[in-house]
Amino acid sequence: MLSFLLAVLPIAAPVSAGETWLHCGRLLAVPGSEPVSEVTLVVRDGRVAEVLQGYLLAPSGIEIVDLTGAFVMPGLIDCHTHITLEYSRDVRLERVERSDADQAIRAVVFAERTLLAGFTTIRDVGSSGDAVFALRDAIEEGLVPGPRILAGGESLSPSGGHSDPTHGYREDLFELPAAALGVCDGVAECRKAVRVQVKRGADVIKLTATGGVLSATNAGTAQQFFEDELEAIVSTAHALGRKVAAHAHGADGIKAALRAGVDSIEHGSFLDPEAVELFKETGAYLVPTLLAGQTVVEMAREEGYFPAAVRLKARQVGPVMIGALGMAHKAGVNIAFGTDSGVSRHGDNWREFPLMEKAGMSAMEILVTATINAADLCDLSDQIGTLEQGKRADVIALQGDPLQSLDAMQGVVFVMRDGVIYTR
Ligand SMILES: [Zn+2]
Repeated sequence: MLSFLLAVLPIAAPVSAGETWLHCGRLLAVPGSEPVSEVTLVVRDGRVAEVLQGYLLAPSGIEIVDLTGAFVMPGLIDCHTHITLEYSRDVRLERVERSDADQAIRAVVFAERTLLAGFTTIRDVGSSGDAVFALRDAIEEGLVPGPRILAGGESLSPSGGHSDPTHGYREDLFELPAAALGVCDGVAECRKAVRVQVKRGADVIKLTATGGVLSATNAGTAQQFFEDELEAIVSTAHALGRKVAAHAHGADGIKAALRAGVDSIEHGSFLDPEAVELFKETGAYLVPTLLAGQTVVEMAREEGYFPAAVRLKARQVGPVMIGALGMAHKAGVNIAFGTDSGVSRHGDNWREFPLMEKAGMSAMEILVTATINAADLCDLSDQIGTLEQGKRADVIALQGDPLQSLDAMQGVVFVMRDGVIYTR
């Protein structure tokens, strides 16, 4: 008998899969429908085997986990993270000081924190080096605890665009092979850049359609890739079976990316009614990342934290993001949960939930974005997002009821991924 109260101990100890019965005080098996009380969730070989009414006694030798005081739901999915880094005022120095190995070791710590915060799947949309692929594979093999990862590798950017990593550095660093991996101009280079990311191991392709806040340039937040470049990236990625996530703040870039057929817009800060129509026509998702907006506004308050150009962009973009989500939600745009963690601290992903409520979404609608909708965007609807028979046993338990207050999302007391228990 393993009490969920054990979860306050400070080490993560995986308990191996097999058969486990979870006694759930309340179970939200399918977000969007009502939770049920006093049920037994039977987990077998890493999958949900049965959901039975009442607290049933297991045959001897089968572990029962007492979650009778908890709110149980599917593992959370964050569609926008940068798991190999955590932003700081020294980030520009760290970029040239730290090796891939340094990043990988930090990423192991960030991944464990993320998992224990209840996130059993993440999409990593942009990281340098090969650490994210090594981390993804090590988690998959069970070598280190962490969420299942869909990795994007290098974010694609035009020269001098938002995710060109050499802004503000000495010119002789511009042409370093590692710095140029995601930089592409014109149709041929854009196609090649996608192929190179897929060859490196990318599960998803990330591009920066517009300028962004944290690049050290005063080039604004409007469109940067041209239409033919966007189309080249999307058609190549789709031909290789990869979805495309497009970072976009300015309305022109949001609309160009949607017209090119991207699968999601990340941030979407300055979306307008025409962009909303395009979202609805294409079925693309908006991944709002309100926590990033809030975090950069907090950082910008601190004198000297950002270069002047970044500070200005942070002040322009941060405050409008909640309104953009509100407009999109009201119009019925598909929304998938994403935090941009790495800008904020890994493990604090839960802070996105109450921010989304400020955009006018209900608690249940928000939980759907972090489960069913995110699973759909990740093309994993047949595997994760609900706790139905045959799905992967990604299960979390919360001490409080998130339908009463989304602050309960910070109180994760039990995490299971693929039937394996990771307890703090
Ligand atoms: Zn990001």
